[in-house]
Amino acid sequence: MLEPFKQFICDTCAGIIEKPEVGWVEWLCYYDEQKGKLINKNFRICHHETRCMILADHHHVSDNHLNNMLKDNSMVIQLYGMLDPEPNVNPQQSKGVKVEDIGETVEFLRRLTLPYYEEARQYWSEEIADGYISEANEISPYFPHNLKSIIERYSR
Ligand SMILES: [Zn+2]
Repeated sequence: MLEPFKQFICDTCAGIIEKPEVGWVEWLCYYDEQKGKLINKNFRICHHETRCMILADHHHVSDNHLNNMLKDNSMVIQLYGMLDPEPNVNPQQSKGVKVEDIGETVEFLRRLTLPYYEEARQYWSEEIADGYISEANEISPYFPHNLKSIIERYSR
């Protein structure tokens, strides 16, 4: 079983990122002329290797080492700021949500904040097809003990 918040699954090669020091976070951040603000999207976790860093040459890339992004919850804090204006921003000057897709951003937050989610999410479609836990209610699949039992049931 992966060690929560230390080991991740690479979004490119699907291999295990054994420790934060060999991981990378990348996403796109661009200025949207119509909305008049910066927009973030395509959040990814991958190996810090050229073959896995697929956004590295993109002219809108934002990126950093996974261990830097995990330290002090720095990526989580950035994501919160993208979803909702910081409390110290004057509401009149706030430009609102700075992500393209709230669902995608919350999914990325789940990977960074819910223990065992990173590993269990691989089995999500099988779990839903079986109705193993997700039938109970909307939040029960996200509890750590349920995520762990999804991993135990579906990993082979
Ligand atoms: Zn990889």
